Amino acid sequence: MIVLKFGGTSVGSAENIKKATTIVNSYSSSKIIVLSAVSGTTNTLTEVNKLLADSKKSNAIDLINALELNYHQLIKELFSSKKYQLEALLFIQTKFEELRLYTDASYQNEKIILAQGEIISTHLFQIYQNELGNTSLLISALDFMSIDIYKEANTKSIKNKLTSILSDNNHIKTFITQGYICTNHKDEIDNLKRGGSDYSASLIGAAIEAKEIQIWTDIDGIHNNDPRFVENTFSINEMSFDEAAELAYFGAKILHPQSIIPAQKNNIPVLLKNTFNPNDIGTIIKNCAPSSGVRAVAAKDKIIAIKIKSYRMLMAYGFLKKIFEVFEKYQTSIDMITTSEIAVSLTIDHPKYLDNITQELKTFGKVEVDKQMSIVCLAGNFSQSGKGISASVINCLKNIPIRMISYGGSNYNMSLLIASEDKVKALNLLNDGLF
Ligand code: ADP
Ligand code: ASP
Ligand code: MG
Repeated sequence: MIVLKFGGTSVGSAENIKKATTIVNSYSSSKIIVLSAVSGTTNTLTEVNKLLADSKKSNAIDLINALELNYHQLIKELFSSKKYQLEALLFIQTKFEELRLYTDASYQNEKIILAQGEIISTHLFQIYQNELGNTSLLISALDFMSIDIYKEANTKSIKNKLTSILSDNNHIKTFITQGYICTNHKDEIDNLKRGGSDYSASLIGAAIEAKEIQIWTDIDGIHNNDPRFVENTFSINEMSFDEAAELAYFGAKILHPQSIIPAQKNNIPVLLKNTFNPNDIGTIIKNCAPSSGVRAVAAKDKIIAIKIKSYRMLMAYGFLKKIFEVFEKYQTSIDMITTSEIAVSLTIDHPKYLDNITQELKTFGKVEVDKQMSIVCLAGNFSQSGKGISASVINCLKNIPIRMISYGGSNYNMSLLIASEDKVKALNLLNDGLF
């Protein structure tokens, strides 16, 4: 069995849904199709939630109504027969009535509202398959995809529930399900965070021990640098799990930060392909020897750096443990860390508990906070053979102030913390100097 995940743009219009369908039908093996919401929908639903939080209900309803009209257009273009067009329109009507009702108690319904994007795209996709006469079964991700109290995926439960759904329907070869959405430990509707459909696909692939996980998107695989900020980037045909995991975690938007781990743990190759250029070979991520040198550069924004300076740290043991305990208490993960004899600097990407954290850290020493920072991550193989790479990296960035450097944590990553205003310049300098 294989998993095929289509991102927002790949199901973003009638024309693109048709392209995705052609791709799906080119695979004769059994498959699970994982869909994102139609592009723009999750952004709009996020906006709806913001308006509701600001008590601007009528503006929220205006947005919902405008979104509904987009779906009417999509349906008109997608379906050729009146019968299926009507079925799709009725479905959309019911869904949008529900959405308007959810606006009554915004806070309880935030996650339910966000979930509608994927619920809509998968239903429309399935109605379209029915129109084409393709047999498929729509299975709700809410029946098997779940996270625990720490927001970690319940991998065992996902496996048990999904395999049982599949074996109950073993005459079906094509399953369709939602990316992104899940239930949480209270059995409420929740999600895997923005861009989470990649993670859904990987979790599903791991659960069913898929032969391959395919991520179909709007670009021909992983590029050596962020194409949104750098010209002349090129796609990388093959990448190791370790390199891809570092890149995804440290900001390459093409992959959700956690999406490589389930595939890697189960040794399932992940193939990234372009829905709009399916003949391009894309990028295969698999268990292969990482080639030497820098493979790719990515950047992660909205980073906060915290420096704790204390002479009590000098020669003392247990100091770092006490600091880490503060972050643990506030469930805030640390991305980068560097230490000197009298200070430790670390970064977080979650400002929610920043005030509580800094208050508590002040009991250890002087605390300085820098906001609007970016981590520039270089993924590649920096082991023995990589002599001189770090020197070239620093040389490329010689005119950019570097706040922290992290190197040697793994053989596959080098991270530098810089001010976000220098990010685009840094990505371009690295592109010119390293590739
Ligand atoms: P999808 O909706 O299919 O999930 P995303 O928008 O989440 O697609 O991810 C694809 C986008 O990621 C590309 O259009 C590209 O702009 C951006 N991107 C950022 N970094 C990279 C990279 N290193 N390689 C390829 N694409 C990247
Ligand atoms: N629709 C969700 C988002 O836009 C999940 C995804 O596309 O992967 O973030
Ligand atoms: Mg994405």
